[in-house]
Amino acid sequence: MHDQTSVMPTITISDSDLTELLRRAFQRCGMDEHNAGILGPIVAAAERDGARSHGLLRMAGYEATLRSGWASGIARPVATHAAPTIVVVDGQNGFAQVALAAARSLALETVDELGMAAICIRNAHHFAALWPDLEPFAERGLVALTVVNSRSRLVLWGGKNKVLGTNPMAFACPRADGPPIIWDQAASVRAQGEVLLARKAGKPVAEGIGLDADGNPTTDPAAILDGGALLPFGGHKGAGIAFMIEVLAAAMSGGHLGFEEHRSEAPNGRSFNGGQFLLLIDPSRSAGPNFPMRTSTLVSALREAGATRLPSDERLHRRAISIRQGIEILESDYRHLLAMAEGTAIRS
Ligand code: NDP
Repeated sequence: MHDQTSVMPTITISDSDLTELLRRAFQRCGMDEHNAGILGPIVAAAERDGARSHGLLRMAGYEATLRSGWASGIARPVATHAAPTIVVVDGQNGFAQVALAAARSLALETVDELGMAAICIRNAHHFAALWPDLEPFAERGLVALTVVNSRSRLVLWGGKNKVLGTNPMAFACPRADGPPIIWDQAASVRAQGEVLLARKAGKPVAEGIGLDADGNPTTDPAAILDGGALLPFGGHKGAGIAFMIEVLAAAMSGGHLGFEEHRSEAPNGRSFNGGQFLLLIDPSRSAGPNFPMRTSTLVSALREAGATRLPSDERLHRRAISIRQGIEILESDYRHLLAMAEGTAIRS
């Protein structure tokens, strides 16, 4: 993730300065204070943790999406109970993180009372990494899982056309002796954002990630992005996971399926208006207070078995460096962000 652009000039900025700049940039694009106050810290956190595929790289997309009117920056999503353990949220065509924030207290009350809660978000756009959605729940001691469907980008099961998206999924669990373990990954071999980063850096991607417009394997990011396709991780097994996510996030939550794109009225809109599903479970209900110790025991066993890198390790390592030294961001991203905040960005 970090290495693709490491030869490009960078600057260092504090978390609070970056967050403030992002808030201003979002507001210049038409977001209100409430929405910008949720999205700004999320994009800053992606840069802080080295998740560049879903950090400042996306700001031009946010800008084009908001200015085109494709997504709303003033949404006030509405969360209601559809059943005792099911909270549904109408995102009011805003961003999914704002919808999740609107569901948070109702979902937590539900978990407190009944031990678990499912959150189904529809009519909302997801344009980011998923770990920020889960981390606050796992920090409260909950096990949390989420899936999001995205625009159709994958060819699978011998098909020729793209139907399913890169459909990301994330899982988080608390542990006794450290921050929660969270893994967060696309259903494609690599997220499309990594291919965008490679194109920006003028570098090829690894083999096995994507196909060109004629269905031939390629390592050229432009050939994958311009009419080509991405491949699911793990062949038919990843394809099955991508299918499950499409069902949970879209069919069940009421969002658009990945191929149901209706952007003709806002061609510059870059985000996908799909669905998101989250499951929150209080593990103490089944495992008692010992649960975080059990996950720590499991992690220790994996490390003793020689596992040198667990999910979250790299992200938390980047976070620690950013907190100590400031966040290293691309100079070009910084200049674009400043221009956005001042209202002089070149719209794309
Ligand atoms: P990666 O393949 O880079 O990483 C996936 C997970 O595996 C991470 O938790 C990572 O840990 C861990 N990991 C990576 N390499 C190793 C390794 N060698 N050993 C052990 N663990 C490892 O992610 P993707 O490219 O699949 O996805 C990147 C991001 O894109 C995700 O945040 C995803 O949510 C997002 N995305 C969002 C979409 C949307 O529509 N909103 C669509 C598709 C993707 P660590 O956290 O420490 O890096």
